[in-house]
Amino acid sequence: MSYNCPNCQRVLDDRQLAHCSSCGAPIPESLRFTEEEIAARELMGDFQAEFERLVQLDKEWRDYFAQQTAERSGSTERRDDTEISNQARLTRRR
Ligand SMILES: [Zn+2]
Repeated sequence: MSYNCPNCQRVLDDRQLAHCSSCGAPIPESLRFTEEEIAARELMGDFQAEFERLVQLDKEWRDYFAQQTAERSGSTERRDDTEISNQARLTRRR
């Protein structure tokens, strides 16, 4: 079912309006969103915004962890130190 202005027959692109956006004719309540529908739409909008915020947050965390991992993998020096001290111990044992 499509919703058209009873006066100019234009498709109502914003069914929250009480008047037609092109001719200004009053839109019958039966063609408009009910208060529940409007509330549901607003809720969905909030949810969408929250979801997008979480996605962004998730991306930031992933970047953060990627950075942390990169920093950790850069600490090969300590492993080299251990290898050297092991070698030194072996050399000493000889
Ligand atoms: Zn109209």
